[in-house]
Amino acid sequence: SSADTQSSSIYSHYYYSSTAMANYVVEHMEDGIFPWVLLEYLAVSKDVGGADHFFLTSMNPDLHASLPPQLADKSVVTTTTDEVIALPAVSAAAAAGRVCLLDPGAEQELVPEDGDRFDWYVFGGILGDHPPRDRTAELRRYGFAGRRLGPVQMTTDTAIRVTKTVVEERLPLDKIPYVDFPELRWSRRESTEMPFRYVADANNEPIMPEGMRELIKADASRGFGDML
Ligand code: SAM
Repeated sequence: SSADTQSSSIYSHYYYSSTAMANYVVEHMEDGIFPWVLLEYLAVSKDVGGADHFFLTSMNPDLHASLPPQLADKSVVTTTTDEVIALPAVSAAAAAGRVCLLDPGAEQELVPEDGDRFDWYVFGGILGDHPPRDRTAELRRYGFAGRRLGPVQMTTDTAIRVTKTVVEERLPLDKIPYVDFPELRWSRRESTEMPFRYVADANNEPIMPEGMRELIKADASRGFGDML
């Protein structure tokens, strides 16, 4: 009957949306693992943790061996020395057009409906630079569909936080509160301006990985220029 058809289609909708969870891949692109990157990856693992959902790819064997316990934990993150496209689930999803590269150079902005379109979201594990050097370009060779998260460069953990908010919570990009280029103040005379967009917390402070402020402060006292 038509009632049956209807209820089964509703059921399959729920079935689909409750099982097809978003997966997040960070393709590591730095030569080393700097403390800065590590704090970002740890923050991501808290946001989207679960080995089925968070993948760190292109980790060279040395890096792989030097991961801290929280990131080496296989229940939290799947780490591999392979590049992203070598993950069988990614190449299958890519063939179906269901992989999205978060790309500051993309023409289309990420929208909530993209949550139905894609199962995999790929990010560059890149320390930002200022002005941005477009290193995400290297990831275009895989041919994934590209989406932009607005015109301002975000840190990798922020980009993942924002993507998750758009595709899982279905909040449009322009409804998310941001703080651009926050100035971290250390004393009356000393401060550090961060050349990125962050998500704002309830106090309008930038959400940063645990330990990041302390790290930046320590680097600032040694000369911030060495870090970028
Ligand atoms: N300067 C950079 C570059 O060379 O491309 C930006 C790197 S950003 C710090 C790290 C990653 O976060 C990017 O590879 C991208 O996946 C994601 N990302 C950051 N801001 C973004 C934006 N506005 N739109 C889309 N993706 C962004």
